[in-house]
Amino acid sequence: MKRYLLFVLLLALLAATPFDVVAQKGRKTKKTTKVVSSKGTLSPSQPAGKTWAVYSNGSLSFTMGAKPQQPSQVDCSSCNQKNTFSSNFCSNCGAKLKKDFIVCEAERFTVNGVIFAMVPVQGGTFTMGATSEQGSDVWDHEKPAHKVTVSSFSIGQTEVTQELWQAVMGNNPSEFKGAKRPVEKVSWDDCQEFLRKLNAATGKHFRLPTEAEWEYAARGGNLSKDYKYSGSNSIGSVAWYYDNSGSQTHPVATKSPNELGIFDMSGNVWEWCQDWYGDKYYGSSPSSNPIGPSSGSYRVNRGGSWFSDAGVCRVSSRDADSPDYRFINLGLRLAL
Ligand SMILES: [Zn+2]
Repeated sequence: MKRYLLFVLLLALLAATPFDVVAQKGRKTKKTTKVVSSKGTLSPSQPAGKTWAVYSNGSLSFTMGAKPQQPSQVDCSSCNQKNTFSSNFCSNCGAKLKKDFIVCEAERFTVNGVIFAMVPVQGGTFTMGATSEQGSDVWDHEKPAHKVTVSSFSIGQTEVTQELWQAVMGNNPSEFKGAKRPVEKVSWDDCQEFLRKLNAATGKHFRLPTEAEWEYAARGGNLSKDYKYSGSNSIGSVAWYYDNSGSQTHPVATKSPNELGIFDMSGNVWEWCQDWYGDKYYGSSPSSNPIGPSSGSYRVNRGGSWFSDAGVCRVSSRDADSPDYRFINLGLRLAL
């Protein structure tokens, strides 16, 4: 697999020009078969009301009712010793304690027994594109940085998992199999079919995020701390990317979340957005709820992947591919 990937990368590099954004992922010569209809019927969704998503000590759980408070204790991941939450090192073995703790409101949905969560994102105004913290890695199509206002929306707390895709579509096209891993090898067109079936099952209007919504959420919305990557300036704490992925995807929500409690917006898999791609679009983008050019040849995707260098996983990094393109590092995240 590794040799194959390196070969693909080499081909991509040979084929690429500096402005050929489509070639960044590497190309796959043989397309997979078209997705076919799933068998059986989908049960309606069961919205669970006010739900809190709790990311604590490296794992994600859901509770209902009152907002959970910060725990008083933290378990040592090395020896299981209980330590006070204010401690930084285990009193028994001295290991560094993992204390990531984020609570965010999230609406929880169930489809055919598979649970997924949508995080409300309060609307606001932000600077989109090549802002100063993005450094010298920026490409021309990230310029100019420009002010954008987005209305409130919800976005998937994680990338769409293989178990969710399976529950809706009745198949799993992914190269790297695992129920909690992100689905990949899905084209933009495949995603539209997935959304149609998901909406038929839930009575909701799930969709792909616009590129502006995606970047606003990746930057932490109104809670943004202006990080280079989604949730940190230290990419290894928030992203599966080339240097730490072992050349494969990883289960979602196994790195730290960003300011809004959203996972993996940097790395793991690229995420399709709704918009057509325009390399000069930022120069003429409307300032309120931009939805991309009115036509085009490529659809935007964002966030970089397990196969990407750190610079490609920045919050303003962009890429685009043909709507029928599938690859082993390209998936999606829901918006609502
Ligand atoms: Zn310990």
